Amino acid sequence: MHGDRRREEHRHGTHLDGGGRHRAAVDTEQQDARGEWLRFAPVQPLFRALAAQRLAVLAYHGVTDHRSFGAQLDRLQRLATPVSLGAVLQAVTERRPLPPRSVLVTFDDADRSVLTHALPALDARGIPATAFVISELIGTERPFWWHEADFLARHGGRARSLDCGHPSQLLRRLKAMPDPDRRRSLHELRVSADRRPPRQEQLTPADLLALRDGGVAIGNHTQGHPCLGRCDDDTVRAEITGAHEALTRWLGEPPIAFAYPDGGHDVRAETVLQELGYRLGFLSDHRLGPRLPSHPLQISRLQVDSTTSTRRFDTILSGLEPAYRRWRRQAVA
Ligand SMILES: [Zn+2]
Repeated sequence: MHGDRRREEHRHGTHLDGGGRHRAAVDTEQQDARGEWLRFAPVQPLFRALAAQRLAVLAYHGVTDHRSFGAQLDRLQRLATPVSLGAVLQAVTERRPLPPRSVLVTFDDADRSVLTHALPALDARGIPATAFVISELIGTERPFWWHEADFLARHGGRARSLDCGHPSQLLRRLKAMPDPDRRRSLHELRVSADRRPPRQEQLTPADLLALRDGGVAIGNHTQGHPCLGRCDDDTVRAEITGAHEALTRWLGEPPIAFAYPDGGHDVRAETVLQELGYRLGFLSDHRLGPRLPSHPLQISRLQVDSTTSTRRFDTILSGLEPAYRRWRRQAVA
């Protein structure tokens, strides 16, 4: 099961590649091999020097490999300047760039492992972080919908709009359809599958306070994690506002940061965020950004996960691996 979870984490974390379980596993190996090789590329020192003048925001999901995660944090302590969400907000407010080699650690979806695995490792090193929460899961034992859909489809679940096509494309197809169709397909999978998905213990409101008190700021990641670009205007507003109200109630103060589900920027979402007083918004575009974010509601992030080897981690942090991936996609297209 552990191997499965590692692939799951990687697949959801690596929005750029999409694809199915098998493809994700192959991609992971290839990317790791690529990272090892890139580390010795003659341009890596140049990328590292340039990266010193950029802001690296790392986008993790859950932490499945705490040893490897600890090694990554040690790396950050040695090579970078970990900063808090508050420091990024201050830089934006005062129009003053963050220090060279600034890194902000973030977690999307607020898997329980952020509390059980990440917090102790961060706390031991005094590294601040931010977790983006899917509000309707808080205090429940409901799995993430993408894990649920995958499980149901592998246990006899069927949905009209998913009848044709390879099972490995399930997640990509669900994310591509209009949101009402995604919700209907999920419902059809639930009623037709011969097994119920395993329960997944989620964070509670008290856990959110424990994270915040431990130096992990809490941000909004919508109510139910739809792809905002597939939602109508009312749903975009309801998804952001619903999570905003719940988080304000639990934390006793309104959140000021938002991460776009699946990393995709949405203009309508940005309007709602501005109305609600949000100051910082985070993408999943696998890029470094300026040390003074020029569009504070569209801050770039780098995709990493706890299983990333430290060698590959270095090439991501330097911007070389993301640049190589962009170049390679263009070359293939
Ligand atoms: Zn997410």
